[in-house]
Amino acid sequence: MHVPIFKGEGVLSYEARPVPRLDAPDDVLVRIEACGICGTDLNILAVPPAHKATPGIIIGHEGVGLVERVGASVRDLKPGDRVVVAPRLTCGRCAYCRRGLDNQCTDYQTIGTTRDGAFAPYLLAPARALFRIDPRVPRDDAALFEPLSCVVGAVRRAPIQPGDAVLIIGGGPMGLLFAQTYRAMGAGQILIADVSPYRLAFARAIGVDLTVDVRAEDLRQAVHDATGLGADVVVDAVGNQLGTAIGCARRGGQVVLFGLRPHDLPAVSQYAITRHDLTVHGAFVGLHPFAQTIRLLESRRVQPSALVTHRLPLAELAEGVRLMREQQAIKVIIEAE
Ligand SMILES: [Zn+2]
Ligand SMILES: [Zn+2]
Repeated sequence: MHVPIFKGEGVLSYEARPVPRLDAPDDVLVRIEACGICGTDLNILAVPPAHKATPGIIIGHEGVGLVERVGASVRDLKPGDRVVVAPRLTCGRCAYCRRGLDNQCTDYQTIGTTRDGAFAPYLLAPARALFRIDPRVPRDDAALFEPLSCVVGAVRRAPIQPGDAVLIIGGGPMGLLFAQTYRAMGAGQILIADVSPYRLAFARAIGVDLTVDVRAEDLRQAVHDATGLGADVVVDAVGNQLGTAIGCARRGGQVVLFGLRPHDLPAVSQYAITRHDLTVHGAFVGLHPFAQTIRLLESRRVQPSALVTHRLPLAELAEGVRLMREQQAIKVIIEAE
């Protein structure tokens, strides 16, 4: 395989690597069709890095492909099956895993971060990291399984009622997946706030009801004008917008904190949370959202491929990263074959 290797400090260099061989009995070899570029990949490749990854590995965790070979103990997958990747390999032994809170595992590995990922023609993964998906789901919908699973995990924390107004702060790929998912759940109004005219125009093009350019408009005022009382649910897909979100939620409403910005310390009115009876949810990657996400994709009620603006070959991974980083793309799919 001629594959991009992460060398640290933002460097990708192409090297020849052998096609991985089955090693453990539960190993599965997957011939990758495509892999999405994630915000996490941009963070891994930032200088200095904003997300840890092990130098020397192949990155990429939003993979879809076909099972090529399975190890001796694999029972539920067979060659030819279409599979998607759930990249986080939890330990099953730590105190959180034993409490059923696998998303808080303290000893996990991640495909594409600590071990070889899916920006490659082949991926070796344990069977438990792979989920079979109906081959009739288009490739690029299946490729967005992993980010959609994080959104499915989060919306379960803040379910909506039919007709509810949902404000999403941050109109990147994750914000747009929230828009699609809450729409499928029966939202009456979807509003998206961002600073990027490109993202806001894209959001309107895929059917978001109202977009707000927060550099030009007062978001709180715009949300109250559009909804009357404020949004029933506000999602912060940025990671430092809690203060703003509180001001945009109606009394008795919910706020979902989804974006991750570990070093930011936003100013927040605790008084408003109490006085307005708000419920604030932290939502991290979701707890076993995978089977539900497969069914959602197979239902075709959510079609995340609408977010794909570019498809590039493996040799142009760095160009795809650049397009997303400079916000000239919403979602880039790397084609492995
Ligand atoms: Zn991802
Ligand atoms: Zn664990």
